[in-house]
Amino acid sequence: MPQTLGNLFILAAPSGAGKSSLIKALLEKHPATGEHDNAMQVSVSHTTRAARPGEVDGMHYHFVDRAEFESLIEQGAFFEHAEVFGNYYGTSKIIIEQTLRQGIDVFLDIDWQGARQVKAQIPDTATIFVAPPSKDELKRRLTERGQDSVEVIEQRMIKAVSEISHYHEFDFVVVNDNFAAALAELDAIVTTRRLRKEKQIIRHQQLFDNLLGS
Ligand code: 5GP
Repeated sequence: MPQTLGNLFILAAPSGAGKSSLIKALLEKHPATGEHDNAMQVSVSHTTRAARPGEVDGMHYHFVDRAEFESLIEQGAFFEHAEVFGNYYGTSKIIIEQTLRQGIDVFLDIDWQGARQVKAQIPDTATIFVAPPSKDELKRRLTERGQDSVEVIEQRMIKAVSEISHYHEFDFVVVNDNFAAALAELDAIVTTRRLRKEKQIIRHQQLFDNLLGS
């Protein structure tokens, strides 16, 4: 894909690290304005898992059945896809490319398998891993979610540790101990990516033509 003004970010984390709250807060800090520069969007993935209470089709995920998902794979519609906990998840190629070309930053909330596939195709992607501050705190956050049995919580812990074992494959690591601090760190990564020369050349083409013109 040619150089675009929009930046691609991947945010991966075990459940319980606070990833969804961080993304939500980051989007609130960077609302889409009339001009697209500095706007960001979270990509809505396709999945074959059933919608949870409160989840809306087209907003949280595009919910499809396995046959439809497999047909989309055959059509080459996905940028990446993976099977996570027995269900398919995938990121639509066309939407990502269109959004980046419009100069809008795109966040992918995907797992380490998807992160690997995207990074291989677009090495320029900034991949970020969000870690919980301790095992005890992770367990506390996973327990707090509802009245789940000890077995369910143990299963979640095993899945979380398996996701964490891939942390070293990422470009950036944010430890979410203090929410405001973790948000500021994420924001700093976004700002740094936006200020790279390759992006500034696109953004300020006229300025540099003018500064360097006679
Ligand atoms: P959940 O079912 O709890 O919403 O998500 C389960 C896991 O699937 C999370 O780690 C989430 O980041 C990951 N995931 C969600 N969408 C995608 C996707 O499009 N591709 C990949 N590879 N993983 C995804």
